[in-house]
Amino acid sequence: MARVTPMRRQYLEIKSQYPDCILMFRMGDFYEMFDDDAEVAARELDITLTSRAQRKGGEKIPMAGVPYHSVDGYIAKLIEKGFHVAVCDQVTEPTGRGIVEREVTRVMTPGTVVEPALLEEGKSNYLMGILPIGDPESGTWRRCGIAFADVSTGEFCATQFAGDDIGLRAFEELARVAPREVIMPESWVERGATLPEGIHLSPAQDWTFEFDGAAQLLLDHFHVSSLAGFGLDDQPDAVAAAGGVLQYLRATQKQSLDQLTTLRAYSTDSFMVLDQFTRRNLELVETIRGGRQRGSLLGILDRTVTPMGGRLLRKWLSEPLLEINRLNARLDAVEALTGGDVLRGEVAQTLKPVADMERLTNRVVMGKAGPRELVALKAALAMIPRLRELIESTPSLTAIAERLDPCEQAFELISRALTDDPPTTLNAIGVIRDGYAPELDAIVSASQEARDWIANLESQERRRTGISSIKVSYNKVFGYYIEVTNAHTDKVPDDYLRKQTLVNAERYITPELKEYESRVLNAEEEILAAERQLFADLCQSVGAQSKRLLKTANAIAHLDGFLSLAEVAVREGYARPTLTEDNVLEIEAGRHPVVEKLLERSTRYVANDSRFDMMSRIHIITGPNMSGKSTYIRQVALITLMAQIGSFVPADSATIGLVDRIFARIGAQDEIHAGQSTFMVEMVETARLLSGSSPRSLLILDEIGRGTSTYDGMAIARAVIEFIHNNPRLNCRTLFATHYHELTELPNILPRTANHNVAVAEQGDDIVFLHRVLPGGADQSYGVHVAQLAGMPRSVVERARELLAQLEAGGSDFAAYKPKPQHQQFSFFDAPENPVVATLRSLEVDDLSPLEALTALYELKRMVAEA
Ligand code: ADP
Repeated sequence: MARVTPMRRQYLEIKSQYPDCILMFRMGDFYEMFDDDAEVAARELDITLTSRAQRKGGEKIPMAGVPYHSVDGYIAKLIEKGFHVAVCDQVTEPTGRGIVEREVTRVMTPGTVVEPALLEEGKSNYLMGILPIGDPESGTWRRCGIAFADVSTGEFCATQFAGDDIGLRAFEELARVAPREVIMPESWVERGATLPEGIHLSPAQDWTFEFDGAAQLLLDHFHVSSLAGFGLDDQPDAVAAAGGVLQYLRATQKQSLDQLTTLRAYSTDSFMVLDQFTRRNLELVETIRGGRQRGSLLGILDRTVTPMGGRLLRKWLSEPLLEINRLNARLDAVEALTGGDVLRGEVAQTLKPVADMERLTNRVVMGKAGPRELVALKAALAMIPRLRELIESTPSLTAIAERLDPCEQAFELISRALTDDPPTTLNAIGVIRDGYAPELDAIVSASQEARDWIANLESQERRRTGISSIKVSYNKVFGYYIEVTNAHTDKVPDDYLRKQTLVNAERYITPELKEYESRVLNAEEEILAAERQLFADLCQSVGAQSKRLLKTANAIAHLDGFLSLAEVAVREGYARPTLTEDNVLEIEAGRHPVVEKLLERSTRYVANDSRFDMMSRIHIITGPNMSGKSTYIRQVALITLMAQIGSFVPADSATIGLVDRIFARIGAQDEIHAGQSTFMVEMVETARLLSGSSPRSLLILDEIGRGTSTYDGMAIARAVIEFIHNNPRLNCRTLFATHYHELTELPNILPRTANHNVAVAEQGDDIVFLHRVLPGGADQSYGVHVAQLAGMPRSVVERARELLAQLEAGGSDFAAYKPKPQHQQFSFFDAPENPVVATLRSLEVDDLSPLEALTALYELKRMVAEA
């Protein structure tokens, strides 16, 4: 084997421990990557790939580097692309002899980063562990444990479930939590377990998820003797998943995880279920097209002013509640803040300077905070007393006011210790305030004294020796010295030690001068070291207050969340919903919260009512394309969801019987899902809906069946409606938008269905969309009108109109439709009418049910056959 340099050996040894990471190896002012890592980095980061021979004439090794001061940006890019990065630092000072020691100080993965530059402000950054229990070979899940944590905020939760459709429930949980990274036992990953796009899946060794080790790890971490206090005593799968997550975090953080102070057991049964398709279709936190927050429901509701408020609101939106009491408490808080504009304004103004207390506190606990971060924490705490004062006399806000702990101790400590405007890092002097630490003050004043002493030395020595040309100077080789010209060397006192002889002068030092010199020179180092130590102690003392700080941060998040909902409620004219256990839904003059904002100024949003009770369960909404069907049915879903997060709603009034899950399905769209036909996807989703709903669910079905031929589509749509209607396990509140106006027959045979149509007015050949939902079915589809509106060539529209007329006249052989001759060349004269034609003419197509139409068709075929 070729000989390798000691540094190369060190590199290879460290790299062998992190085969799955890109290893960034600190060398002087750069982080270097080698071999394959260098090639990946060069490609992904667009940096130069070079190569370097280990020794003269030796083999060249690929290499790419980034400057240490901008490493965060590069790491962010790699993590964004799903890579894991191990950062290897120099842990000893270079001595000039041998190589410095190096160690991996951090492993960064998408779900475990804490650096502010790598995090999004208003979003939690979760690592989720999913532990399927069952047979990895066949991919069958029998039970499942789930845990997730955000190391940047200290949140740590776990749950488990068993029963039917475990895999799907796990995916629903995945959609709700929306983690940045998921870990799963590698035996499952190797057998092809996959996740939705955009979520990074990391395999973890199976043993990390084993119950015994996991439970022990958690017990040790929390210093407890039982997990019962967390509600996890009879939840082995949740424990195993939580242990797996903690193990992974420990392996990446390389330090204690003190910020994870508690683990919360939760049950998915306490939230409204929203699967990923529903979240997407309702555009809750981002738009379908473009994935932007603007244009989503969150985009409307989020007027929070603090990062933790933003994160909480997003969380509320992802887990609507099922408990009336909790919801009413939220609504009370929001209502209290809708009352006085002045109060709202003042609370907002006071919240503004409050930085991300949650993440700041956690960085303090982890020993990663810099001086300015502590100052930001202090600035946040400074606002607490005023916030309390503003809200404490408002009855529904007193609970929050009580939790707004000003944390005087932490505030005091930081105020006393830190200067008002300290440098960003501890590499510069000026972090600690004068008078805070006597030992530091002593060093500072000693160094000042020493400077003064040296500054005075020249005049003092001139006086003492009578040599007027004495000079005190400094150079790098000798430090401070006293210079005496040759003419006066005879007068030099005994305590002068000769150091250097020049042509016309001698240079001396004295032991005293050297003493003061070392005081000056060492002082800077000493001050830096003392400041570092004092700062570390300060962080520890402030970190010891983390529970109180985090509690306050949480209260601020709530206040900010309520404030945001109140602000929107007032601005947009929302009403407080009434929540009930009854299985009803009544909305008066409801609006779509997003669409009403997107309309141009000249158009007013047309509000519509909705009313469901036990006798009216399924509403079939017909109307031409573009009339507003989709908007209307989504508006009902969004109003319900808003009510169940504790928000006011865009309506004059709303009574919402609690909904346990919303299912929103849109018939096949243009996009092709991986490998399956859109229609197949649509059917699979619909099947899931039929198996997962209860009578408390709300179903929003938009053009189900569109993805296939008209007759198939109509048949499927009808079958789905019948199934919902007739199955006592379902009988859900359902909104079914369709352009198959044939479905308007259904209320004749299914009593709990009702027809509604979105009205249009005809003006000659044109139609005007009124967007008003009225009882009764639409009788025409008006598709051709819409084609005209969409700017189709006139001849196409004309031809379509003609074909439509023939279709409506009852023609069955589409291929036989001939274009109307432009000029009639000859005409049939008075031939007796064929009985088939006569029958056709007499048929009132609009009055026929599909079955009658089919029968009529058979009759006509028979007549033709007999003719
Ligand atoms: P459909 O589902 O019937 O094809 P959409 O619901 O997509 O129709 O609505 C088409 C457009 O009509 C919307 O983008 C919106 O601009 C407008 N619109 C829908 N409902 C209303 C309403 N209630 N008031 C005003 N404009 C509306």
